[in-house]
Amino acid sequence: MNPLTQLDSLEIRVLINDQLDNIAPSWHPEVHAPGRFAHIRLAELDETAAKARGDAQLELRLPNSCCGAHGLSLMITATAGDVQHTLLFDAGPEGEIWEKNVERLGLVNEIGGLQRAIEMINKAKSKSTSPTNVTMDLHPNRPFYRGMVTPAGPISLEADPTFTELEAAGATVTKNAQGHNILDDMFFVSGQIPRTTLYETGISGGIRLDDSDAGWQADPLILDERFVMCNLRGKGLVVFTGCSHAGVVNVSRHAVEVGGGVPLYAVAGGFHLSDAQLDKVQETTNDLAKLDPKVLMPGHCSGWRVQVEAERIMPGRVVPIYAGQKYGLSALL
Ligand SMILES: [Zn+2]
Repeated sequence: MNPLTQLDSLEIRVLINDQLDNIAPSWHPEVHAPGRFAHIRLAELDETAAKARGDAQLELRLPNSCCGAHGLSLMITATAGDVQHTLLFDAGPEGEIWEKNVERLGLVNEIGGLQRAIEMINKAKSKSTSPTNVTMDLHPNRPFYRGMVTPAGPISLEADPTFTELEAAGATVTKNAQGHNILDDMFFVSGQIPRTTLYETGISGGIRLDDSDAGWQADPLILDERFVMCNLRGKGLVVFTGCSHAGVVNVSRHAVEVGGGVPLYAVAGGFHLSDAQLDKVQETTNDLAKLDPKVLMPGHCSGWRVQVEAERIMPGRVVPIYAGQKYGLSALL
């Protein structure tokens, strides 16, 4: 891969995440997230209301708190000098929640389920000085349906939007099976993630449907899953993993492998260990520790046991991410 642009800072706004905790601050000295409701929009009280409340000018409205919901959506803003780019890392499965959270965070004028995200982002971009449709970077080998084998027969998930549907919603779709840089080399989008560990075996019972005549096909490995990473100057690689069906260690190892000698600094996203046996959780944390990441930001499907285990063997490095909160990372000064 081409070298990534060395960033001055990264801001990660969590738009969708399974867990919600408006109170928890980051205890990590290099991750800025004040918690304690600081990320929730305050409402200004008018003069009459202020007078009736002992001159308080602002009101904390808890209904402006985000909703926790299954999935992961991160709005990642990278800054290098005076250049800034924002990448939306997934949108979660439910458009209504994505829209609700974005509105509650007051981001609806700033940026814009996936089609709703496209429409909202395009609407927001149309007001800018150089309006362009949002570009979607997708793997070409996406199934029409994913599902799982159960004793009651296959259970299908809802349809993923097709390329045509995404284009109809207003996206410019680019398909990439290989790793590549985007947005002035600020972000690397991976290709297929090599599976090197013995214990990260994908999703047991995972199936896919590409053609209803051919029927469901076994797909435990979900080889079209990818990750995104950045290079924070003086700190190292910041890796974003959506659901880690490839295994978070496989993801992290591949990131280091293609990262041009830059050390692993942070891993953020779904580690997919919520339902894992303890020995798998321990093998994962032990192998992650060998890569010496300075920050671990588990969310979505990570589960509490990997948080506890990682904190036990890498004390001080775990910053669980919560819906609505914003996490700042900075380059070495
Ligand atoms: Zn997952």
